[in-house]
Amino acid sequence: MQTPFFTIDPSLTKAAEETRLQTQAQFLAIDEVTEYNQQKVLAAMIQEGVSESHFVETTGYGYGDRGREALDRVAARAFGAEDALVRHSLASGTHTLSVALFGVLRPGDLLLSVTGIPYDTIRPVIGIKAGAGGSLKDFGIHYAQVELAADGLPDWDAITLAIGEKQPKVVYIQRSRGYTLRPSLSVAQIGRIAKIAHENSDALVFVDNCYGEFVQTQEPPEMGADLIAGSLIKNAGGGIAKSGGYIAGRRDLITLCAARLTTPGTGREIGASLGHNRELFMGFFNAPHVTGEALKSAVFAAGLFERLGYAVSPAPLEERYDIIQSVCLREPDALVAFCQGMQSGAPVDAFVVPLPWDMPGYDEQVIMAAGAFTAGASIELSADAPLREPYTAFLQGGLNFHSAKMGILLAAQKMKDAGWIQ
Ligand SMILES: *Cc1c(COP(=O)(O)O)cnc(C)c1O
Repeated sequence: MQTPFFTIDPSLTKAAEETRLQTQAQFLAIDEVTEYNQQKVLAAMIQEGVSESHFVETTGYGYGDRGREALDRVAARAFGAEDALVRHSLASGTHTLSVALFGVLRPGDLLLSVTGIPYDTIRPVIGIKAGAGGSLKDFGIHYAQVELAADGLPDWDAITLAIGEKQPKVVYIQRSRGYTLRPSLSVAQIGRIAKIAHENSDALVFVDNCYGEFVQTQEPPEMGADLIAGSLIKNAGGGIAKSGGYIAGRRDLITLCAARLTTPGTGREIGASLGHNRELFMGFFNAPHVTGEALKSAVFAAGLFERLGYAVSPAPLEERYDIIQSVCLREPDALVAFCQGMQSGAPVDAFVVPLPWDMPGYDEQVIMAAGAFTAGASIELSADAPLREPYTAFLQGGLNFHSAKMGILLAAQKMKDAGWIQ
C-alpha cells in the first residue's frame, strides 16, 4: 500500500506488492506458529498466577522476590524445561552463555562444539581467541570442535565419532547461523544431536539459543537439550526488556548456573529485580508475537531483494529456524547505501548516517544500521555487515512488520537513488 508519508519509487512499490502476493502462504504459516507460541506463553502466565504483586520492586539483596521466582517458572514452562533463570542483570547474550558454561564446566572437562566455530564473542570466553584473560581455557577446560559439513549442516558421522571418542562434558550447539552464511539448525536437528550425545556419552547438551526462541513451536529442551541460554534484547525480551538474559534446562544444572550467577550458597535466592519485573514479564509475554513480526520482516526482505536481483538466504519461501536474513549486495558502496537507507526508516535516530568503522574484535570495518529504543537490540530492525566480500548484509528484527517493511523499502530506495538498482 502506498501512503503519503514516504516517497518510494513506483517500481519498488510494485515489487513490494508482488512480494506480498508471493509470500502470503509464508505469512500464514508464521501466524500459526505465533498463535501457538503466544497461547503457550499466555497459559504459562495463567498457570503461574502472575499478578500485579509480582511487579513490585525489590532492592538490596532481593530476598524473596516473588516476581523473579514466578518469571523463572513462566520461562521454564514456555521453554519446556524443568527450571530457568531470567535476569535483567545478565548484561548480554555472551555474558549469559558465559555464566552457563562456567556454571557447568570444571577443570579437566572438555567442551565440544559440534556446529563449527562458535559465534565471535564466545571465542574469548572459550579461550580460542585472545581476550583479557579469565577464559575457560585459563581454568583448565579443554575445547574441541567438529566442523560443519560442506553444505553447512551438522556432520552427523563426525559428530557421532567425536562424541564417542572424546567423551566431552558438554556438547555445544549454536542454533542460529549468527553472522555466517551457514543454515540455522532446526529444533529437530538439535534433537538429533542430543540423541547422539546421550546415546554415546554422559555429555550434557548445551544450546546457544540466541535468535531462535519462538521461531518454531518447540524449543530445544523439549527435544533433549539439557541447557539453553539466550538474550533478552533479542527474541525472548519481546522488544520491551531493557537488558538481560535467560538460562533454562535441567534443574540440577540451573542450580549450578545460579551458583555462578551470584555465589555458591546464595545462588538464586538473591538478586534484586529493581523494578524490572513488569517489563520482563511484559516482554516475555510479547516475545512470540514480536518474533513473528521479525520473521515476516525477514521474509519480506528476502522476497523484495531477490526480486531486485540479489542473492538472499534464507530464500523467501524457505522454512526458517531463526530471525536472521542475509542479502548479498556484492559491492561495498551498495552495502553502505542499503544500511544508510534502512537507518533512515528507523523510529529512533533516523537522521544518523551510518558509515563503515573499525570495530574491536573484527578484522574488517563494519557498518551497522540500528535505530532502536533499546541500544543494540537486534529484535528491533537492524542490519550489520563487515566490509568484506561478498558484501553481505545481515538483517534482523522489526518490532512490527508494518514499520520494518518501510525500513526495508527505504534501504532499496537508497540503493536505487545511488544507481545500484535499475
Ligand atoms: C547475539 C548472539 C550471541 C551473543 O549475544 P550478545 O548479546 O551480542 O552478547 C551469541 N550467539 C549468537 C548465535 C548470537 O546471535
